[in-house]
Amino acid sequence: MTDISDAPLSESSGIERLFVTVGTDYHRFDRMVWWLDEWMATKPDVQGAIVQRGTSAKSEHVESVDYLQRTQLVEEFQQATVVVCHGGPATILECRSNGIVPIVVPREEKYDEHVNDHQVDFCERLAAHGEIQMARTKDEFFRLLNLAVERGAPEVAVDDGHAAVSLIKFEDQMVELLGPRAETRSKELADVVPIRSDVQKIPVLFIGSVPRSGSTILSDLLNENPHMVNIGELVHLWERGVIENNLCGCGQSFSDCVFWGKVGEIAFGGWQHISGERMHTLQMRADRTRHIPRLLVPNISRYMATSTVQYGAVVSRILRAILEVSGKTVIVDTSKHVSTALLLRQLPDIDLRVLHLVRDPRGVANSWSKVIDRPEVQGENRAMDTLHPGRIGLRWLWFNFAFANMDRLGVPTTTIRYEDFVANPAETLDQIFEFAGVEPTGDELFGDEPLMLGEGHSVSGNPRRLDRKPVELRVDEKWRSDLDPKMRSLVSRVTGPMLDRYHYSKDV
Ligand SMILES: [Zn+2]
Repeated sequence: MTDISDAPLSESSGIERLFVTVGTDYHRFDRMVWWLDEWMATKPDVQGAIVQRGTSAKSEHVESVDYLQRTQLVEEFQQATVVVCHGGPATILECRSNGIVPIVVPREEKYDEHVNDHQVDFCERLAAHGEIQMARTKDEFFRLLNLAVERGAPEVAVDDGHAAVSLIKFEDQMVELLGPRAETRSKELADVVPIRSDVQKIPVLFIGSVPRSGSTILSDLLNENPHMVNIGELVHLWERGVIENNLCGCGQSFSDCVFWGKVGEIAFGGWQHISGERMHTLQMRADRTRHIPRLLVPNISRYMATSTVQYGAVVSRILRAILEVSGKTVIVDTSKHVSTALLLRQLPDIDLRVLHLVRDPRGVANSWSKVIDRPEVQGENRAMDTLHPGRIGLRWLWFNFAFANMDRLGVPTTTIRYEDFVANPAETLDQIFEFAGVEPTGDELFGDEPLMLGEGHSVSGNPRRLDRKPVELRVDEKWRSDLDPKMRSLVSRVTGPMLDRYHYSKDV
């Protein structure tokens, strides 16, 4: 990896730090790099900018790196005063959540920069609301960069409520992009992978939520139903299970767990016959936030379809093996990611239902601000990630918006508030059991004796899944005292537009 210079741009420039990202789509986006080079050639005094070029041409005037690690990328967004990027929603959202109004050149189909013109449609709508500055011609691109030099970056703070308003506008754009309610799941993939009528579909109850919303205890309790099996965050199977050999929910390492051993045996004749690294790479091509637009648009590229089909076939094999080994009828997957839900939705032999779990964002932010050990990682001390409350607020908006709209895509969805579940666990669990189509057994779980959970095999998730203590359900309102009042107020402002929807108070 190239060393990234921390040198700011020269003083004569109104741009203190310029970050350019063309995205990591497999299509090249040379046009933007060439335009940038042409402009930079006229500004010999501008130094210290950086381009993440992906598969595109190397810049002649600006330091280029192929790809940045996620943490470096976040750092670049935080340090940049001016960002130039392609029209990918994930990149734009990242800019907006850092208070940046980016200069955006949408990728266009006619130049073979993308499979269709969804970036153009998307950017036109955002530009109309002043969320981005769009350039579709070289002249316009030069004009915007020159303006940035003359006047500096547009001033937008992340904590002035602007970001929340932007997100709501963003939601409107996304709703428009999603189009009318779908009656059936995507037909395109069904054409590629014929649905085999003789094979029963695999029922999957997918928990969709911002991580740390209480899905661990909820899924552990769902596992107590005689017809359900909780497998934890299947999205981390390759990285944390197969590759890192973390601890399974049963307390054994992944490679020593009898349950997962049998699953591997049935699916692939043993995990040794499949490369975790290769599968992880394939997964990254099919299941990532940046692929969401492609998982949504009707004209899925051949590349995407191939990755989805290949990876989807692997996932289906694993899920079918899980049904066989567990002897249960419904699989609970707590992966939570929006992209994973959209990927499962594309698979013709999965009967997907989404359990949308919502928790008070101030509680979620408080949980994300604590350093929590991950004892399931063997041989080294690792902790769960922490994130700034403002970013959690934005993530809360984005995840809840996405899962609130899942039924528009034809995926049956039910919404549960974590606080309601804790207050009335038996009743809430029964609602979920009915939604998943299994016999309700909520009442049997909560008697006079404290409830001890049976053995489970969640492959990854919150370290609490490894606890062997009686279940204690209580509303966790520690955030009211633990979370800094300024941060509490920031989260309330950022999530304000959606708090009412889930009956959370704005004044705390
Ligand atoms: Zn296990």
